[in-house]
Amino acid sequence: MNIAVSGCLLGEKVRYDGGDKRDSFIADELGKYAEFTPFCPETIVFGTPRPSVRLVTFQEQIKVLRNCDLVDVTKELEKGVREEVNRLKILELTGIIFKSRSPSCGLGTTPTYQENGLEEGKSYGLFAKACRDEYPLLPMEEEGRLCDPEVRENFVMQLFAYDAFETFKKASPKMKELVAFHTRYKFLLQAKDEKDYRELGNVTANREGLEFGELFQKYEHLFKTAISKKSSIKSIRNVLEHMAGFLKNELSTSEKATLHKQIEEYAQKRIPLIMPLNTLYQYAKKYEVDYLLEQVFLQPYPHNLALYSYLEGLNEDTLV
Ligand code: SF4
Repeated sequence: MNIAVSGCLLGEKVRYDGGDKRDSFIADELGKYAEFTPFCPETIVFGTPRPSVRLVTFQEQIKVLRNCDLVDVTKELEKGVREEVNRLKILELTGIIFKSRSPSCGLGTTPTYQENGLEEGKSYGLFAKACRDEYPLLPMEEEGRLCDPEVRENFVMQLFAYDAFETFKKASPKMKELVAFHTRYKFLLQAKDEKDYRELGNVTANREGLEFGELFQKYEHLFKTAISKKSSIKSIRNVLEHMAGFLKNELSTSEKATLHKQIEEYAQKRIPLIMPLNTLYQYAKKYEVDYLLEQVFLQPYPHNLALYSYLEGLNEDTLV
């Protein structure tokens, strides 16, 4: 998968002060599974080092001002933004990761100021806003929010599901393959959003009698919308319990207790999602429950993403 990333997060010396903000989760961990396309709209037009800038609201319009002399450089930065958006447009991206709080790259966390210099709120950086408009369904996140394990799990799950859909689409699937794809994603979609999950089921049942091309487009839009949603712990817990139900006649008393304890501990935010998922997967394998084994939700992303950074005591031996 190809992910566009703020260049400074990959260690490129493109910040206003000539430095970087290398992020080891992105560069080292995610980098094992993705190719990166770095970008930096500010360097293109202002070079590095350069005076820092801020977003200032003038009569409900956001302008970009240099901090040192308050010169308006909005038009210049917009030019850099257009150039970078056009460069990314020709790539097949799976996602974009932005540097948080930046006047160009912040994804809703960039401080905005009043004319008198007082901070007034938060907004999108110019480049992040242009990307959001250009790619409404593409997975996007900020490096700051990725420190939150739940956000990280959701984003990584979205990236891998989005990438899988794009690969699936390239194989020119027919109705039969679409139904099989949907079946494999059922529990993941249900964990994301119950309503979208049901609607996707209706689309694959083709209750409206649509041509396949139209039906596929509808499915794609709904699928990408569903995977962009943040699963709640409550909905994930329900799905885990539902999946455990498929094993109720096979599991021993102690296996049942282990599984339900892990689901409970996940719900209390004491262990990451991947742990009860992994236990379910191991039991499904042991008892050869094929319907569960084919579910992507049991292995939604490689184990070493999204969890080792915040869970002490968890190691490769804990997860198979
Ligand atoms: S414009 Fe974006 S990529 Fe460039 S230094 Fe600032 S935050 Fe990093």
